[in-house]
Amino acid sequence: MSDRTDTNGARPVVLVLGGGFAGIGAAQHLGKSDVDVVLVDKNDYHTFQPLLYQVATGLLEQPAVGHPVRDLFHDQDNVRIHKDRVTAIDLGARKVEFGKLGPIVYDYLVLGLGAEVNFFGVDGAAEHAFPLYTLPDAVRLKNQVLRMWEAADKEPDLIDDGALNVVVVGGGPTGVETAGALTELYNGLLRKDYPDVPEDAARVFLVEASPEIFSMFKPELRAYALEALTERGVEVLTGDVVASVSPLRVRLKSGKELRAHTLVWGAGLQGNALVQSLGLELERGNRIAVDEQLRIPSHPEVFAVGDIAAITDAKTGQVLPQLGSVALQSGEHAGETIAALAAGKDPKPFKYRDKGTMATIGRGSAVVQMLGGKTMKGRKAQVAWGAVHLALLPTNQNRAKAVVDWAGAGLTHQRSARITVET
Ligand SMILES: Cc1cc2nc3c(=O)[nH]c(=O)nc-3n(C[C@H](O)[C@H](O)[C@H](O)COP(=O)(O)OP(=O)(O)OC[C@H]3O[C@@H](n4cnc5c(N)ncnc54)[C@H](O)[C@@H]3O)c2cc1C
Repeated sequence: MSDRTDTNGARPVVLVLGGGFAGIGAAQHLGKSDVDVVLVDKNDYHTFQPLLYQVATGLLEQPAVGHPVRDLFHDQDNVRIHKDRVTAIDLGARKVEFGKLGPIVYDYLVLGLGAEVNFFGVDGAAEHAFPLYTLPDAVRLKNQVLRMWEAADKEPDLIDDGALNVVVVGGGPTGVETAGALTELYNGLLRKDYPDVPEDAARVFLVEASPEIFSMFKPELRAYALEALTERGVEVLTGDVVASVSPLRVRLKSGKELRAHTLVWGAGLQGNALVQSLGLELERGNRIAVDEQLRIPSHPEVFAVGDIAAITDAKTGQVLPQLGSVALQSGEHAGETIAALAAGKDPKPFKYRDKGTMATIGRGSAVVQMLGGKTMKGRKAQVAWGAVHLALLPTNQNRAKAVVDWAGAGLTHQRSARITVET
């Protein structure tokens, strides 16, 4: 039972750590259950990561991508939300500690703390790179890009020094989407905003270690994405790796030096650092292995869901990718399983319903690949991308906002969120 007073002590306490897709899915599926749910996240908002690059490039405003967590539980009176940082998890004592809250002892624990950026020890990356994993990251990157254009407009020497160039690291969906969106922002609007900046003053590089970008997609989709990026003006450098980053230069392993004052890191993730303290054997990328109920085998009252977990797909035997739909479905399943256990019923194994792996490259250009191998590209794929991501947005209000912004940007090519707000 909990040490805290916001649960009545009579019902099982379900502690949900993380208000991402996974944690929200779990808590929402406990709404009709006879349990007390406590959800804790270090932020008071749920971040919609798939659209972060749209905030970073001025297409969407922050509230379309960050939604108040408490809003999602107004109709669920067995849930309490706290904004606090998890500092320690003791699986043996069934106890979690926080920055400010008192410790909470749980009957069931849902670990939905997600992943975090992995700089792979690259010299200078942690200090100087711009990762794109959180809402503050997206706002920081947008402000940096706008600041660089403003500065170069005033001081043309900066252009020769590469102030407007951006290096994006990582040829997966995050890197490709960001590089594509940046060139659209550059070519569509910033050139008009700053008519005195010469046409060829700003370059966008995409650096990928593998021989090709989009290694998770079939060759035909890789070729399509490369062509679409190149047409937009992205300079794709494959088979090379970033060796070091300084505020004004990016050095590659091949010896090449790129003049760029902005480096976007979209290259790697690892499970939340807290997992290393759990005393568990971890899978590749610091992920927690779970059984078919999504429980940690040595601690069956603990569920690991979303990006923090290595969930094996029952159909294919493969570990599922770190995707929004995997996180949401696994979180929902954990909630349903706890509800079944609390009601004395037998839980069912997790079955993933594939929504496809997908990414956009730019306006009218996207790729989709289903687990079975079916593929789509171009406008059709972009519509599918839009439908899947709208379904993942937490409320109808967010969906309406995203549709209005996307439709507006599609028709007018405007990105009205390209303003810097200094605090
Ligand atoms: C840039 C980007 C683009 C993406 N694009 C797509 C896409 O197009 N399609 C797709 O399906 N997926 C996409 N993904 C992946 C998808 O967003 C993730 O798979 C999904 O968000 C994982 O959900 P989660 O709930 O496991 O973790 P998260 O969404 O990361 O949620 C974890 C939560 O835990 C909280 N937290 C972390 N540490 C602590 C702590 N110590 N104390 C308290 N709280 C803490 C965080 O604040 C966060 O709210 C993208 C990811 C990124 C980064």
